[in-house]
Amino acid sequence: MKPMETGPRVLLKRLREVMAESLGAQVKLDKIVDHIAANMVAEVCSVYILRTNDILELYATKGLNPEAVHEVSLKVGEGLVGTIAASARPLNIQDAQKHPLFALLPETGEESFSSFMGVPILRAGRSLGVLVVQNKDKRVYRDDEIEALETTAMVLAELIAAGELKGLGSTSSELDINRPRTIRGSSFAKGIGVGNVVLHAPRVVVTNLFNEDFEVEKQRLSDALDKLRISIDNMLERNELLQHGETREVLDTYRMFANDEGWVRRMREAVRNGLTAEAAVEKVQSDHQARMQRVSDPYIRDRMSDFDDLAYRLLRELVGEDQNAKILNPSGKSEKGGNKQRKLIVVARNMAAAELLDYSKENLGGLILEDGGAASHVVIVAKALGIPVVGRAAGIISSVENGDEVIVDGQEGVAYLRPGGDIKLSYSDKIHFQAERQRKYEKLRDFSAVTVDGMKIKLQMNAGLLVDLPQLAPSGADGIGLFRTELQFMVSASFPRPGQQEELYRQVLDEAKDLPVTFRTLDVGGDKVLPYLRSVHEENPALGWRAVRLALDRPGLLKSQIRALLKAASGRELRLMLPMVTEVHEIRRARVIIDHEIEVLKRFGYQLPENFKFGAMIEVPSILYQLDEVMNTVDFISVGSNDLFQFMMASDRGNNIIADRFDPVSRPFARALKIIAQSAIRHKKEFSLCGDFAERPMGALVLFALGYQSVSMSAASIGPIKSMIRNLDIGKLREILLPAIDEVDGGQTLRELLKDFVDSNGITY
Ligand code: PEP
Ligand code: MG
Repeated sequence: MKPMETGPRVLLKRLREVMAESLGAQVKLDKIVDHIAANMVAEVCSVYILRTNDILELYATKGLNPEAVHEVSLKVGEGLVGTIAASARPLNIQDAQKHPLFALLPETGEESFSSFMGVPILRAGRSLGVLVVQNKDKRVYRDDEIEALETTAMVLAELIAAGELKGLGSTSSELDINRPRTIRGSSFAKGIGVGNVVLHAPRVVVTNLFNEDFEVEKQRLSDALDKLRISIDNMLERNELLQHGETREVLDTYRMFANDEGWVRRMREAVRNGLTAEAAVEKVQSDHQARMQRVSDPYIRDRMSDFDDLAYRLLRELVGEDQNAKILNPSGKSEKGGNKQRKLIVVARNMAAAELLDYSKENLGGLILEDGGAASHVVIVAKALGIPVVGRAAGIISSVENGDEVIVDGQEGVAYLRPGGDIKLSYSDKIHFQAERQRKYEKLRDFSAVTVDGMKIKLQMNAGLLVDLPQLAPSGADGIGLFRTELQFMVSASFPRPGQQEELYRQVLDEAKDLPVTFRTLDVGGDKVLPYLRSVHEENPALGWRAVRLALDRPGLLKSQIRALLKAASGRELRLMLPMVTEVHEIRRARVIIDHEIEVLKRFGYQLPENFKFGAMIEVPSILYQLDEVMNTVDFISVGSNDLFQFMMASDRGNNIIADRFDPVSRPFARALKIIAQSAIRHKKEFSLCGDFAERPMGALVLFALGYQSVSMSAASIGPIKSMIRNLDIGKLREILLPAIDEVDGGQTLRELLKDFVDSNGITY
């Protein structure tokens, strides 16, 4: 049955008419309060808007003294209006003046009104102001009236967000929605980016607030909910372990929430009141977010954020992909200020690596993730693109609008939203300084990395995608010490065909010209999930069926990759290494497969690589006790310090809670690195390290002292490390560091000792 054209629906119709008229903002507001008062049979309707100085200013009123408009204000937390803004919850009071929180504003003439109902004007959980109705008699407003006033408040929120109230008001301070904010997260990728926000999963905004036909919207909401439930059920059925930590438990919770009566009822109510399905979802989501921001219990916050995520999925169901397309290539209206030169700073809860590549590389200036792990794939891709990333930026999504100005400081892990002049100034200095340093590194590009006492160090870069390659020449890298072949698989929507693999490897070798490239065979499993590969549920995937284990069990995969590599490297050198080797027999078994592929290609008359070098990664602690055997089976080894450290210290590399708990620049890890170096030297085998340890200056010092003369790191780190090497006296460093590594109960930590060394020898990087 169609709801009668009365109450909230009529009101929303009126408001829509007002919004569509070409009137000044103040006239619009005045008309809006008139309509609300008339519709709700209230003697008073007032709008208070929040300004950056935490002041709620009366912006329009019907029923109070009109002279008080823009003259009267309250602080957040003060009086009933201030309390509503602070708590983001409605208040419904029969006799307001007897209420302990009541603060009389005599200029308004409100002393003659008893009953009071006020609701926050919320947007993405943030209070932007307060909407109030008052009556002389002591009445209690019904729940449906509160609901209707909240729906109306949402229309006002859009008016504010659209920038329509700019320039109104008494004080010189801005509206709160434009308030600068600093959000502290973690540094995921270094560098500084300045630009305008683009919300990766854009919120549905003003474009379609009011529904024309209740039945149609009700049906749309119901269809979208059905689709959402089916998609969750499908995920559960397929037992899909998607990225972003969407484990079965989370999906189970989602399914429960998607069927939550209260959630669905509130959205239906909003549609009944006249909103479109997407506006109704957004309204209920905003109420949730407001509550979420005020809950400190992490468990409850987590559950509420599941709801939040579900609402985003539902919005995407309703809005489809078009809005995304518009945002990916922002032009005109969606960009405040419309300055096309500005870079895009992508803001997302979390995202898959491939999604970042959907943005045009030239426009990307940075990435801010509300969740995510520092070692996640999207971060690896962001590093390849050379953009800064701030992760774990709690509350970022509900604090920004598309087009907001933002500075991403990937060094400090901080995002400055709508930064003020002083911050902008200090960052323009920092950016200038960064550019200076960059110029200094570029000048070093054609110089070798040689210590003052003559030790030459080979600095190579890590890569995994074609977008990495343009950095090879400008970084001055001596080659690619680790090519993570799994990245191509991770960013593809389906299995890359052998021809595509071969094409990529050939392009990499072409680009590298005479420089060596070390390809690592597929390192999937664990945290490296391929969305299209059916995976089994594993309690501890990092310790599970992954990398070379998977390759040996599914030799078809390994064979086709080896064949692609052999063909791509025809007539040139092929360097190949195996990841996550735990027992030496795995190397031998893989070698049999490789030799077989070489034989097959030879038989079919293919030109083989001119030279083949075979290696293994040292990243599982068990292999430290089989080093002699390993050295006898390979041409070279490369230490994967990220994994070796996580497994040695039983400390998950993606877990932020323990991220800084154990220091790799410490005796246990240095001793492990020493054993590896000694074995390789004894067996006269090439040895190198390709994890993050090499790009941290103190880590690099440990390596050089231990005799590592080849390391591989992100392209951006080569300049600083080369600069450090060129003023390093390795003899002096060895004198103090080598005995300290072996020292039992050493007084100073290795880090302290290295810091003293760096300071007293004027070593910079
Ligand atoms: C490592 O583990 O250090 C390494 C280089 O490999 P990945 O980071 O790809 O696991
Ligand atoms: Mg590894």
